Amino acid sequence: MKKRLILISNRLPFNIIEKDGKIDFVPSAGGLVSSIKSYVEKSKTLTDLSAIEPPLWIGTADVSEERFMKLHETGNLYHDDFELSPVFIPPAMYDKYYNGFCNDTIWPLFHYFPSYAKFPDEYFTNYVQANNIFCDKVLKVYKPGDIIWVHDYHLLLLPGLLRKHLPDAAIGFFLHIPFPSFELFRLIPSKWRKELLSGLLGADLVGFHTNDYVQHFLKSIREILGYDNTLRVISTPDRSVTVDTFPISIDFSKFNKASTDVQICSEKSIIKEGLHNVKVIISVDRLDYAKGLVNRLESFEFFLEKYPLHRANVTYVLLVVPSRDIITKYAETKKEIEGLVSRINGKYGTLGWTPIIYQYKPLDFKKLAGLYLAADVALITPMRDGMNLVAKEFIATRADKRGVLILAETAGASSELGEAILVNPTDHQEIADAIALSLDMPIEEQIKRNETMQQRLREYDVMKWAEDFLTQLDQKKLKQEKLKVKIVNEVIQNQILERYEKAANRLILLDYDGTLAPIAALPHLAIPDAELLSLIKMLSSDEKNEVVLISGRPVNVLENWFGNLNVNLVAEHGAFYKKRDARWLQTVQVNADWKSEVMQVLQLFTERCPGSFVEEKALSLAWHYRNAGKDLGFLRSRELINSLVEISSHLNFQVIEGNKVIETRARGVDKGSAASIWLKQKKYSFILGIGDDKTDEDLFRVIPPTEYSIRVGLAQSVSRFNLKHQKDVIALLHKLINSSVDLLID
Ligand code: UDP
Repeated sequence: MKKRLILISNRLPFNIIEKDGKIDFVPSAGGLVSSIKSYVEKSKTLTDLSAIEPPLWIGTADVSEERFMKLHETGNLYHDDFELSPVFIPPAMYDKYYNGFCNDTIWPLFHYFPSYAKFPDEYFTNYVQANNIFCDKVLKVYKPGDIIWVHDYHLLLLPGLLRKHLPDAAIGFFLHIPFPSFELFRLIPSKWRKELLSGLLGADLVGFHTNDYVQHFLKSIREILGYDNTLRVISTPDRSVTVDTFPISIDFSKFNKASTDVQICSEKSIIKEGLHNVKVIISVDRLDYAKGLVNRLESFEFFLEKYPLHRANVTYVLLVVPSRDIITKYAETKKEIEGLVSRINGKYGTLGWTPIIYQYKPLDFKKLAGLYLAADVALITPMRDGMNLVAKEFIATRADKRGVLILAETAGASSELGEAILVNPTDHQEIADAIALSLDMPIEEQIKRNETMQQRLREYDVMKWAEDFLTQLDQKKLKQEKLKVKIVNEVIQNQILERYEKAANRLILLDYDGTLAPIAALPHLAIPDAELLSLIKMLSSDEKNEVVLISGRPVNVLENWFGNLNVNLVAEHGAFYKKRDARWLQTVQVNADWKSEVMQVLQLFTERCPGSFVEEKALSLAWHYRNAGKDLGFLRSRELINSLVEISSHLNFQVIEGNKVIETRARGVDKGSAASIWLKQKKYSFILGIGDDKTDEDLFRVIPPTEYSIRVGLAQSVSRFNLKHQKDVIALLHKLINSSVDLLID
């Protein structure tokens, strides 16, 4: 099947130029276009050429819709290897969406400037509308088999909007800015933050630059939507979503070859000579309060004060690239920077030396690479930055492996560039000392540090980044396909019904909590209702059926709830059982002398984890943490498992993890052994076993592979099939009863 890549970003990474009354697209600088191009090229070598279609890029264009339509009728255009499809958003909506919600709400909040973030309703309503316009556009062009890759904070809702229409599509999302800690994310009004997170969970794979952003996102999902994750996989009731780290990079070889280009070398010489061959510190940033320019200038001033011998021997070239200066905070930042530059130059400058050369303009690639080559030190100290490509570009350009990078620990790039001098961007003293250290750093040390960083950037460049993301997305879809085959659909259900109807005798093994009844906040609240009791009664009243309720609950609870039904019962995960019309028996002779020691440990953890409690049963103890704070509960449960595993080596108990509960029970007891009591007593022509958590896996293991073991939820399981929801179990059991009633009527 043909697989086409659809990329969606707020802006098309192509500038629209009018030439001879026609439209021409020119790719903008930046790695994404070349990265995708090289990925497509590589795929062609691996696949049949005809199987690859040119990628389609969807995004807003920098001309009005009327102008565009006048110049081009179809709305679709090609450039090089890309098909381009512009989106048009009415200017008033675009203003509230882009300058408003994107850059006046999300951007400051996600960059840890919460006091700059504004939350007017109209920002969000226009953000929703703009995301819907993007969604309509994608739906118009989408063909089955296409891979959809949505980019960045402008389109957080888009994966969810698309998922409603395209349940099976492969959808990836990548965030190019930081994902903030939960304490900041929660400042977004409640309804919006839920919508934003649900929007992202429409994707199959969500990518971030660093592991910190991944962890922040997972915590927000747990706290706000209540969905748990196993490592980096989030389980929602309907689907599972993978979250992972893909640090974006640069076209390493393009920058690394720069020093062999005559024009770039001449740019370097012009800078060096213009500055009278003094040492050169550079920085390159878009105008943005998050780039830490004010703190950086103050630190440079502090450096000049603290290290007077360096004065006149070093010049700082401060390049600021114009950006968003119609937004008040940006205009204010620019004014502040310019004020500081003139104050420092006025205070320390001499007739022959200007400490800071400031430029507010963009540079083309050759001039920029010339600047990187002219630098002795790159001073890059953002307060927050999703990644920071300038840091990577500086290192890659220095083929001579000379030059020192000073980098803020708050830039995403710092997780990969640990050999740089890492500084706190607010610490004037630390930055001043780092500048002095860099200016005096021996060449051998510079080479050693840069060699290691270059090696890392060479191996994981921007081509690799795209390839890595798209490969993982593909693998995720394959895993989903495999799981889909396991989910009980109509065909499988009919097969179960048919086998059930034909069977002369049937064994039905049913777990209780999470299977027959929904999970409740406290165990004593999950009481069977009248509908469930009547369902069990009908199921067990069919004389062909042997129904076993196989639970972790203690004997007295099961007896109380089901004692008067003609049903077999298993308590405490298999420690006790009662056949119909018989007495309760213990399955294996085990003692419970381990309980007092384990109880002491559990009580200690209960004190350390508010909301948790211990449930004591005859041959088991359970520590429940469903009502504890989500993260603390999880953390304590991990610690508890470690402590218990340690003492279990000399005591006769085992540790099992259930759904928000850690169970300890006597060795030799499990649901599988208990189920075997019935499995051994007769040959059944139909066996069905249903359960929802890890303790049920023992049950699934003893059910023959040709029979029906079913796990509730989408977790990995040895079961033959899965049902998505607990309520699906009830529906299936009703169908079984009705099918035998139908049979009787027939
Ligand atoms: N850049 C440019 N022209 C300039 C200055 C910078 O094209 O005059 C490029 C630079 O090469 C880098 C990008 O702009 O690739 C800036 O990316 P970064 O991640 O450092 O910051 P962002 O602008 O994304 O916040």
